[in-house]
Amino acid sequence: MVVMQFEFATATRILFGPGKLKEIDSIAANLGKRALIVQGGNSARSLPLRSILGEAGIEFSTFEIRGEPTNEDIIHGVRKARESDFDLIIGFGGGSVIDSAKAIAAVAANPGELSDYQETIGGGKPILAPALASIAIPTTAGTGAEVTRNAVLASRQLRVKASLRSPHLLPRVALVDPELTYGLPPSLTASTGLDALTQLIEPFVSIRSNPLTDALCLEGIRRAARSLQRAYDKGSDPDARRDMALASLFGGLALANSGLGAVHGFAAPIGGMFSAPHGAVCAALLPHVMEINTHALRLRGSNGDSLNRYVKIAAIVTESEKADVEEGIAWVRDLCQKLKIPGLRAYGIQEKDVATIVGHAIKASSMKANPIALTNEELTESLTRAL
Ligand SMILES: [Zn+2]
Repeated sequence: MVVMQFEFATATRILFGPGKLKEIDSIAANLGKRALIVQGGNSARSLPLRSILGEAGIEFSTFEIRGEPTNEDIIHGVRKARESDFDLIIGFGGGSVIDSAKAIAAVAANPGELSDYQETIGGGKPILAPALASIAIPTTAGTGAEVTRNAVLASRQLRVKASLRSPHLLPRVALVDPELTYGLPPSLTASTGLDALTQLIEPFVSIRSNPLTDALCLEGIRRAARSLQRAYDKGSDPDARRDMALASLFGGLALANSGLGAVHGFAAPIGGMFSAPHGAVCAALLPHVMEINTHALRLRGSNGDSLNRYVKIAAIVTESEKADVEEGIAWVRDLCQKLKIPGLRAYGIQEKDVATIVGHAIKASSMKANPIALTNEELTESLTRAL
């Protein structure tokens, strides 16, 4: 008998519901007096948040993150937070913005700089002091970053992405208001939504899966499968947007506690080497990695459990109890086509890059949770198919 043991950690409070943003005044007032709002490049989007805080008399300033966050962004944000004694950091935006807010909150409250704490390219020291209080408010439905304990940051000079990781990165409050995603354009709905689906499938087949995250993954996959196409076709459909916001949240809860797999193992080096949006990269890889994983599991899997998990996924997404693994993969491939997900070539990735990416991916932390160790040839094959 295998001894079951697991840990489950998440944000201190999770608040979910359409219109929840309206409660941000009392939530913020409970946590701090001076708020730094970390937001994306389009500052008009945070107007509702700023007007609620303004009316409540809460002091705030803003800090913008354009695109995926770099180490320089975080260094600037930390300086700003320290200089003006902000005691509350509010991340309002997509995964990039929320990761930035988490990183700024943690580094600002600890001695030294980002480079002391970052994994791989930094000192990797543990973050010991609790972070500044932080509130994460996602405006996309994909990354689940509001409930994860790492922040993925890019070093422009080194062309790599490396995480800042600590339980202290978990926000004090994750406020998920699906209404904030109604205006997302279809292409962003597609790439972020498929990232959410990937982040539910990978933890479910992960070697670190546990019964608690299994339940979240199965429910999340069900909701994403029935609603992603609808959210893409009609952005203001409240039921579809609610399902996708839940799928994203459940994916974040699952990945933070059970890890990911080969799709994210590839996405890490690709994100460092090319300026390709994370969700779109994951979407392009997902069906090909499912294919190679199930192939490898059939060849040399130690037991049938992982393959059975792919059968369960197939049954949920196709809504047919009789569906087999191939039908499940075909459903995912079909969805990627309908949502117009381009191959990785669209981001400048070519055959000549495959060996380098595979070399990095095989060492990526996400790869360690993949249901089966893939060979160099298998990784090469699946990445080439995703081009
Ligand atoms: Zn992801």
